Amino acid sequence: RLNNELIELKGNIRVFCRCRPLSADEVTHGCSSIVEIEPLCETELQFLPFEKERKAFRFDHVFGPEDSQEAVFAETVPVVRSVMDGFNVCIFAYGQTGTGKTFTMEGVPENRGVNYRALEELFRMSEERSASVAYTFSVSILELYNEQINDLLDETSKNIISCLISRLEIKQTSDGTQDVPGLIDAPIYTIDGVWEKLKVGAKNRSVGSTNANELSSRSHSFVRVTVRSEHLVTGQQSKSYMWLVDLAGSERYDKTGADGERLKESQYINKSLSALGDVMSALASKKSSHIPYRNSKLTHLLQSSLGGDCKTLMFVQISPSSSDAGETLNSLKYASRVR
Ligand code: ADP
Ligand code: MG
Repeated sequence: RLNNELIELKGNIRVFCRCRPLSADEVTHGCSSIVEIEPLCETELQFLPFEKERKAFRFDHVFGPEDSQEAVFAETVPVVRSVMDGFNVCIFAYGQTGTGKTFTMEGVPENRGVNYRALEELFRMSEERSASVAYTFSVSILELYNEQINDLLDETSKNIISCLISRLEIKQTSDGTQDVPGLIDAPIYTIDGVWEKLKVGAKNRSVGSTNANELSSRSHSFVRVTVRSEHLVTGQQSKSYMWLVDLAGSERYDKTGADGERLKESQYINKSLSALGDVMSALASKKSSHIPYRNSKLTHLLQSSLGGDCKTLMFVQISPSSSDAGETLNSLKYASRVR
């Protein structure tokens, strides 16, 4: 490791729960909030699907509807910082469509999320350490849709045909890690440069779909930041990744109404999300020696950044609305598995 700074992180896997506010629409339709967060207990929430039924769930941290992007990032930043010390990092947003995954990761221009704030922190730290370490950063932006990898920084991939020709695949590298040959890895020098790339990625994510929001909820999207460093005195070099992942919506699809395409999509999503759950729970239990990374492209892609001394943070995003009780319970159960 380049830096002997005290690592603030206690464990390698942490799970945060974030509950969004009740929407205006939900209020109009008479939905009520069935999630309660004790003001003084930042690690527990109460789920009240029915009168007289109350179930407590514990997390490393619980954020309620009032909690700001700043407050969320303040708890996230130790995980982000560890990439500068040579650790691989994965930060995920998991949950039903409409619960705030994109709000937490991308945010909105006037209220930016984890992705932008994390990169801002990397530039800040690089400046702070510039007397002893030279850092360089680059970024790749990709999506996984129907088990196919699309490069969102590749302007030519807008064209469906070129997309089919340049199939991106995960390859095993000589040092035992995974890589995606051909994936654009764009150098970034300033935080404004990052913002430009993030905008290109977000724009390309919606290409090819009549309803951008619909497609984005059925693909996993990744921002991969590569951090390279060289110690100015010892010459020691290191390379580490920070993956920022906005997962596909976890909701169950109604099989009866689904056409062939929809059914295929939902099977891919279910398979990859349960494979991620299996990997995380195998890592968390510490008992299993076999970690089933190869069961989906999602976990295979992230293999060298999940487990070992890698740092993992999962945001479990939930809705407070009584109308989402079933999906919320599914998400809370998924979260208890991975912790
Ligand atoms: P997802 O990506 O999970 O489908 P979105 O991030 O698109 O969900 O969020 C759905 C809507 O809820 C958006 O309009 C978003 O701005 C809003 N929203 C989500 N979380 C919050 C929050 N914590 N505070 C305020 N608005 C939120
Ligand atoms: Mg989204």
